[in-house]
Amino acid sequence: MSGTYLGMPAFPTAVRASTKDTQLRANLTHATHTIRDKRAKAVAELDDWAQLREAGKDIKDQTLHHLDRYLLQLETQVTAAGGVVHWATDAAEANRIVADLVKAKGETEVVKVKSMATQEIGLNEALAAEGITAYETDLAELIVQLGDDLPSHILVPAIHKNRSEIRDIFIEAMGRWGRPAPDGLSDNPADLAEAARLHLREKFLRAKVAVSGANFMVAETGTLVVVESEGNGRMCLTLPETLISVVGIEKVIPTWQDLGVFLQLLPRSSTAERMNPYTSTWTGTTGGDGPAEFHLVLLDNGRTATLADEVGRQALRCIRCSACLNVCPVYERAGGHAYGSPYPGPIGAILTPQLRGIQSEVDASLPYASSLCGACYEVCPVAIDIPEVLVHLREQVADQGGKGHRLEAAAIRAAGWILGHPAVLAAGERAASKTRKLHPQKSPGPGIGPWTETRDLPEMPAEPFRDWWKKNRSPKEGR
Ligand code: SF4
Repeated sequence: MSGTYLGMPAFPTAVRASTKDTQLRANLTHATHTIRDKRAKAVAELDDWAQLREAGKDIKDQTLHHLDRYLLQLETQVTAAGGVVHWATDAAEANRIVADLVKAKGETEVVKVKSMATQEIGLNEALAAEGITAYETDLAELIVQLGDDLPSHILVPAIHKNRSEIRDIFIEAMGRWGRPAPDGLSDNPADLAEAARLHLREKFLRAKVAVSGANFMVAETGTLVVVESEGNGRMCLTLPETLISVVGIEKVIPTWQDLGVFLQLLPRSSTAERMNPYTSTWTGTTGGDGPAEFHLVLLDNGRTATLADEVGRQALRCIRCSACLNVCPVYERAGGHAYGSPYPGPIGAILTPQLRGIQSEVDASLPYASSLCGACYEVCPVAIDIPEVLVHLREQVADQGGKGHRLEAAAIRAAGWILGHPAVLAAGERAASKTRKLHPQKSPGPGIGPWTETRDLPEMPAEPFRDWWKKNRSPKEGR
């Protein structure tokens, strides 16, 4: 995956700072609670939501089962419509393909519509290394880019910023990237949106190349689909001469009829809208209408390996609605940056370690970044059983060893031996009861200390239960 988040600490370290940031906590709590309440109302309007959810799950599973076939069909249709399909095994290959395409046009800048896939591969940084500037055009992405920040939410990347913080970023940074913020800019949302609109208009009118992702790719016609709320996507997809779309291979669906299911599931789950304001579809090229050149970069980057895992593959059903983030008590307190990946929250905790592997400390910590409360599964419009995958990944992390897990394994082995020797267990219980006044309130041991810092240890009884039982119950009563 991307180098964008390189150098970020593992989740337990990262949350130490973010949970103490009261402004961040307030911004996140306000935003996630507002969106989750609206979503619940929007979903409750549909009597057949459960059936739609099941249909979305089935379509995705069926497609993933025959992914090779649908991708080849998609390639055939895109090519027949005048597009060019490129296959990218990993981030480096995808970035090289895009950079070469931009350079071949003699351009040094591109406009972008928000795309998780390009964040995943660190495209902006890779293009910058080649002397190409990528301008984000989604309002929240623009805030993140101008603030030299990282996205912290799938749908609302600047969810951690409030209005006055955004105004300060616009005033400080807009001039360095193009048209400066208007004098006396207020933190009124309409004024901020107008400042962004004026700033971005210059970019739209000048850019010769655009880069997008896609929410869906329809195999039967080779059509790509972007759903959005601001209209910046529509501008990127239609105005420039060349359009390059970087899309994960799991975004393919078989037919337009299938698309109908997702166009009902996605807006209600993500923005709590009955229908999103802009749905753009494009199929290859059409003379005199839209881009004259269209390139589709199909991105693997760990997806084939994820597909091979029978439990973990359900993460590839994800339609990036972000509903699971908005209900997650851990995300609400930790914030998106703590996950060290463009995919934060519950879906990030299962997708990132699968795409990147669990070798690094950051990735091995992610399956534990959850309370396993199950709220994410309840809201997921394609019924991804995130807790099931989290536990599955925890098994893999434990199996690969590491200091904490070696200690845990040794402790369980010792416990197993003691439980298998009742006389030793009884002697240990009596000794523990007799010395109970000397026991510490918190565990000092490595790996246990942080756990008991926030929890009380159970009090040791004055007498072991089995001794009490012998004294207070006759053998007849006791059996
Ligand atoms: S896992 Fe489900 S709820 Fe979370 S972003 Fe993906 S589709 Fe939405």
